[in-house]
Amino acid sequence: MKILVTNDDGVQAPGLLALAQAMRRLGEVTVLAPDRNWSASGHVKTMERPLRVRETRLADGSPAYTSDGAPSDCVALAILGVLDEKYDLVASGINPNANIGHDVTYSGTVTAAMEAVICGVPGIAVSLNSPPEHGEIDYTPAANAALRVAEQVAARGLPAGVLLNVNVPYLSEQELKGYLVTRQGLRVYRDALVRRNDPRNRPYYWIGGDFPTGIPEDGTDVGALAAGYVSLTPLQLDLTARNALENLKTWEF
Ligand code: MN
Repeated sequence: MKILVTNDDGVQAPGLLALAQAMRRLGEVTVLAPDRNWSASGHVKTMERPLRVRETRLADGSPAYTSDGAPSDCVALAILGVLDEKYDLVASGINPNANIGHDVTYSGTVTAAMEAVICGVPGIAVSLNSPPEHGEIDYTPAANAALRVAEQVAARGLPAGVLLNVNVPYLSEQELKGYLVTRQGLRVYRDALVRRNDPRNRPYYWIGGDFPTGIPEDGTDVGALAAGYVSLTPLQLDLTARNALENLKTWEF
């Protein structure tokens, strides 16, 4: 089993090391990840500049590759053959914050797994719901959860065009309640406009505000995390609002 590991936080992020080490228990791991933080960069295809790939090492001394492209670029580069390898699975993460509800459209972690399914390779995105204020994050329970999910993907496969969005509560192994298959829930964003003036007295803007919350409805990713379960949401790239089709067909043009 050949596994490509990537992330959106940069190749030296501790969450990537934890994921790569976990995936090595399942198969042969190649790391190709961005050389900088691309969090909340969405689904990117870099078309207006060349991309570079260079060798590096993770903190445990293991070899890795890094690129100046986005997470989705890294996945495309790898699957298109930049390293002359084929992959059975793409694992992205471990992101230090949850990717739930509408987050999936912003998330570089999730869009890396989306790119995998576009390229015909099963993809999983793994995120940890660590609190906004924390010291050093313990990724061990999330890495073990990622391994259990990847084992299931290896054994059972995923339907074509479907990726798994995995979110893990920030709990110890003993505290984790189990695994729930969920649908996307609702995030509540608390964005606020921050307007300041630069040294030349021209205004600039920052999208600030408080950390997002969510509506912890049963059956959703938000609800699973709130209840202490690992959330597994199957995602597809067909965003068609099917229940709007019939109404729109009655419009006159
Ligand atoms: Mn990130």
